[in-house]
Amino acid sequence: MPAKDLETIVSLAKRRGFVFPAAEIYGGFANTYDYGPLGVELKRNIREAWWKSMVRDRDDVVGIDAALITNPRVWVASGHVSNFNDPLVDCKKCQMRWRLDHIEEGQYGEVKRNAAGDVTCPNDGGELTEPRQFNMMFKTQVGTVADEASIAYLPPETAQGIFPNFENVVASMRRKLPFGIAQSRVSFRNEITPGKFIFRTLEFEQMEMEYFCQPPADRNNPVEYLALHQEWINTRLAWYRDTIGIDASRLRIRDHEKAELSHYSAGTADVEYLFPWGWGELEGIAARTDFDLTAHGNASGHPLTYFDEDTKQHVVPWVIEPAAGLTRTLAVAMLEAYNEELDEKGETRVVLKFKPAIAPIKVAVLPLSKNEALRPAARRVYEMVRSTYMAQYDETQSIGRRYRRQDEIGTPLCITVDFQTVGEDGTPGDDAVTIRERDSQVQVRVPISGLLEALRERLPGC
Ligand code: ATP
Repeated sequence: MPAKDLETIVSLAKRRGFVFPAAEIYGGFANTYDYGPLGVELKRNIREAWWKSMVRDRDDVVGIDAALITNPRVWVASGHVSNFNDPLVDCKKCQMRWRLDHIEEGQYGEVKRNAAGDVTCPNDGGELTEPRQFNMMFKTQVGTVADEASIAYLPPETAQGIFPNFENVVASMRRKLPFGIAQSRVSFRNEITPGKFIFRTLEFEQMEMEYFCQPPADRNNPVEYLALHQEWINTRLAWYRDTIGIDASRLRIRDHEKAELSHYSAGTADVEYLFPWGWGELEGIAARTDFDLTAHGNASGHPLTYFDEDTKQHVVPWVIEPAAGLTRTLAVAMLEAYNEELDEKGETRVVLKFKPAIAPIKVAVLPLSKNEALRPAARRVYEMVRSTYMAQYDETQSIGRRYRRQDEIGTPLCITVDFQTVGEDGTPGDDAVTIRERDSQVQVRVPISGLLEALRERLPGC
């Protein structure tokens, strides 16, 4: 079973070095977190798993890494300067500030209304002010003179780093339609509402891909394009299930209502997860038509088209965009992996049952005790293992406590080096070690000479 509440994960994340509140010694900073030694590994592994499935395992997708701060005209053309707004409301009683759309979506629990039918403050039921539009992009300034001409923006998504590079990628990589360009990096949004841990933060990481395909023959009935959109929805849903290990019962696809769609969109579907507080978005898969390439082509005066060798015509490709949140997925990976079990002594065993490929530490090497006689063999095993797998060496505390610690951080395998390994009282050692599996707690004896092979069998995809 996954974690019952967010607090369980927040506390484990801090205690075990996954995620810390940012600048905690200064009282923290709203909606901002730092990733600790295990969090940074988990984040990297999730990103790697995404990159592998989206780029490396495919012939039709390439990656890029565009500048964060770029020509501000990009954000004018994309519509972000004028439209990337959220409706803000304040409670007239408690002065708390909210996003009206989030209240209406039920993100703060049951939607309460007054006698006139207007939504009220989720905190105390107070009357809310009229909504006012608030642009969520962070502004900064380039150069030493602060004037209109020096304004630049921190990117609120990664996609707009991809579109302006369309032609460069086509030309340099000799791409034929359909093909995709993927990018994973940090994005920034001036989020003003309480963030629910790393679900919603000011600074977060995204994993996005723009998949360019032939424009449809009939704009109003783009049958093949919509079928391709559906294919990407299925592919992305399967990734959360099979790669991140989310139970299918806590995943669903939600199609956006007509009213939610941007005017140019031919459809958007979200992959949603059943969070402890209800369903919430993990990824949006948007059918963006030719909106972005056309907008950037028009605004820059440099048409972004593709030359179709068959028809000898320039066309503006249509786009499908699977846009995922890396840091939000990390929160879900932790919620979902969390398990509490009773051991044989009736004590609670906390286990993060990560898929091996995303587990921060793959193997822990644990000498049975701190005894000097065990250390050389244990260190030798550790050196051997860590050349291939992210490994940890730990000889403090009792072996039982060290197993518990590794369970709690989700390490799939522990290797124990004991007196049988090194020999005792004149008897020669067997040069073998014990592998203990995290989930079954089954222990098997393996010769050190065959250890890497035994690990390989037990750590698929690592
Ligand atoms: P939401 O409705 O939750 O604000 P969105 O629809 O604005 O999300 P998109 O613009 O589609 O989000 O971004 C794609 C993904 O990026 C989201 O599905 C989410 O996983 C992630 N994401 C967006 N905003 C944030 C944030 N402030 N903090 C963490 N992750 C975010």
